[in-house]
Amino acid sequence: MIYLDHNATTAPAPEVIAAMLPVFSSVWANSSSQHGPGQDAKRTLSAARATVARVLGCKPVEVIFTSGATEANHLAVRGLLAASAPQRQRVVFSSVEHAGHLKLAHALREAGTVVDLIPVRPDGTLDLAAAAALIGPDVALVSLMAANNETGVLMPVAEVAAITQAAGARLHVDATQFIGKLPFAFASCGADAVSFSAHKFNGPKGVGALLLRQGVALLPQTQGSQERGRRGGTENLPGIVGLATALALLGDVNAQAQRVAHLRDALESGLRQALPDTHIWSHTAARLPGTSYLRFGQLSADVVLQRLDRLDVAASSGAACSSGGSQASHVLTAMAVPEEEALAAVRFSLGVSTTWEDISSLLKTLPPMLAPLLHEELTTAP
Ligand code: PMP
Repeated sequence: MIYLDHNATTAPAPEVIAAMLPVFSSVWANSSSQHGPGQDAKRTLSAARATVARVLGCKPVEVIFTSGATEANHLAVRGLLAASAPQRQRVVFSSVEHAGHLKLAHALREAGTVVDLIPVRPDGTLDLAAAAALIGPDVALVSLMAANNETGVLMPVAEVAAITQAAGARLHVDATQFIGKLPFAFASCGADAVSFSAHKFNGPKGVGALLLRQGVALLPQTQGSQERGRRGGTENLPGIVGLATALALLGDVNAQAQRVAHLRDALESGLRQALPDTHIWSHTAARLPGTSYLRFGQLSADVVLQRLDRLDVAASSGAACSSGGSQASHVLTAMAVPEEEALAAVRFSLGVSTTWEDISSLLKTLPPMLAPLLHEELTTAP
């Protein structure tokens, strides 16, 4: 199989699995217990927290373990909003946040909070002037992703941090697609809170964290004494050890990013050469190294994914599937892409497991499979 869906998830590294297994079998006590085995579990938890802090450039007390980015995003937004001053009750999200996160924006709106969405330009980059106009003294917090999961576009976190700070508001950054793919340090990123999930960088699923700047007030969303009272619930120790192990394995993130970007660029130029109707979104913007979001003419993404499946290639469409069929991606809609083009969106996301052989094999097999379909589309078009 050629796996080109790293933005969806990644395989747990063998070292991650090896580090987790003994925790299941022998460090299973509750880390809040006073007895010896409980204290062993507590030490294991502290060691994992120290590793996270070292790799991500934060203090151990700034790490709040969660069940993943979704929970961390909810904790940040609801927790920071609830802790903000009464005159600050407006929340600002970008219009291209992860679909699950935008659902939270809608839920807040339904409950009476004013939520504004920062628009993006047709190339998927954030409209900074619009952001500056929206972020004022009545804003409690801004929630912005570091990198978009569909287009790969990098968001101007430092610039938005400066605007947010000047307005006296908090900044939450969803770095789920960024951490592990590009160098990151919490201390210098300008955000008050940062979320991520371990399974995006060869860690296990169902575990992640919220990094919360020391001294920033946050109301817990689940009560309990764990995580210094900020996130109640017995910690998922095997998962947390897996998360820390995956972070410790990252190595030279810059070198890996360059290698992956070369592979992505080779894939894009090869596809464009073989199939001139290939259109790549956001290719002029600063993007994640491995993300390529494109369409082949207006060939439906369903048709392309079926062909890819025959070639044993795993990729994604840009559409959300609902019971009635496919819906155009909200990210492409925010970029003013017409629906029929958006329904042709296919995302290839390359990662550390991607090889030159994967890309050259795809470039040999996919174009001859799609060319007749594109020709047919062209000759039957009105
Ligand atoms: N934010 C972004 C940008 C994501 O890409 C994802 C996962 N696709 C999430 C949040 C949610 O992560 P999880 O499902 O692990 O909670």
